[in-house]
Amino acid sequence: MTLIDEQIAGYEAELAEAAGALNLANAQLVEITERVSHDESWVGTGVHSLSQWLTYRAGVSPERAKAIVAVAERRAAFPQVMSALESGELSLEQVVELVKAPAWADGLVLDWGRVATVARLRRTIRREWFTGAPGEPDVDHAAGPDRDRVSTSVTDDHRWRVNGELDLGRGAVVDAALIEARESLFDRGHQSISTADCLVEVCRRYLDGIESPTRRERSKTWVHIDVTEGAASTTDGWRLPDSVRDRICCDGLVQPVWEREGVPFSVGRTQQIVPERTRRIVERRDHGCRVPGCSSDSFLEVHHIIHWLNGGVTDTWNLICLCAHHHRLHHSGVLGITGNADDPDGTVFTDSRGSPLDQCGRPKPPDISPPSPARPYQPPLMGRVDYHWVGLGWVHPDEQLRRRTRHHSN
Ligand SMILES: [Zn+2]
Ligand SMILES: [Zn+2]
Repeated sequence: MTLIDEQIAGYEAELAEAAGALNLANAQLVEITERVSHDESWVGTGVHSLSQWLTYRAGVSPERAKAIVAVAERRAAFPQVMSALESGELSLEQVVELVKAPAWADGLVLDWGRVATVARLRRTIRREWFTGAPGEPDVDHAAGPDRDRVSTSVTDDHRWRVNGELDLGRGAVVDAALIEARESLFDRGHQSISTADCLVEVCRRYLDGIESPTRRERSKTWVHIDVTEGAASTTDGWRLPDSVRDRICCDGLVQPVWEREGVPFSVGRTQQIVPERTRRIVERRDHGCRVPGCSSDSFLEVHHIIHWLNGGVTDTWNLICLCAHHHRLHHSGVLGITGNADDPDGTVFTDSRGSPLDQCGRPKPPDISPPSPARPYQPPLMGRVDYHWVGLGWVHPDEQLRRRTRHHSN
């Protein structure tokens, strides 16, 4: 062994030790996240999602937070893979790929995980097409156009519901639009984008694209508010919850309608509650949603700290930029906002328990020495390896069938 060989062997041993400790620490993060996810204790802390809570509290990137949450959600289903993570044997990134397989493959994918790099696992897990447990029939996806249906309705608790199914071809068109909307929202700095966000984005852009002025006007949703009673309803007569009414009254268009003995006799000019000029000043001042830990800076809504219907003025000190999510949270009573928005330190945000939100998470230096892994991290194999022969020795029945048919057709 040359001196260089010895040196590199020393570094590799150190690295294996450090990687093992890192895996152990990640296993701890996963375990804590699973508990938080289980009792939903993150709800009400003022964040959009569990992964955003992690980015905020643990100071990790959104991508890492998503990985931790993905693994935490599958933790119970993969006891063998998890025990390898918890003994420091597998890295978090390897486990992220492994838990994409169905739960029945727990022991099987563990064997791959021990010998494959993350990039390799990403390709292998996808290629193996885990369509069902061996012996279980495949799900029949052929719905046919006669079964295509989509319906929308309003639920008893005033939520809008969509239901339906399409054949795969038409579904693919909808999927493509949703994926494009997701990418566009992501490019504009949105994080933790749900399919619901994508659907609303697709519809919003469709409406923005209407060129005919009359059709554009017709596509607006008008909310009727009785100024004496404060009750709000849509044109179709759906009664709106107060939280929705208050939110619309923060940043919408108003058009007064005068009535005499219940009969409308005159309609006033349409006005923006927050005039364009004021809005631009507030947006320039806030540079995005002001809620601590939130990074949204597009599709902002301007909120009246003292609500407009309660006589809150449309002056900059009473106006604050919020993303749609936080605006909704506030009006549903989960996120408290008080103070003077013109003063950079003048606003206080509180969670559902009334405790103020910190401006950023505070990691705590450990007062004990870091955990030592049961054994150092064993790096995956390098070079070109045929994974059908190494460490696997098992091929999914569907894949076997595919190979056989491919063979016959050649
Ligand atoms: Zn508001
Ligand atoms: Zn926000």
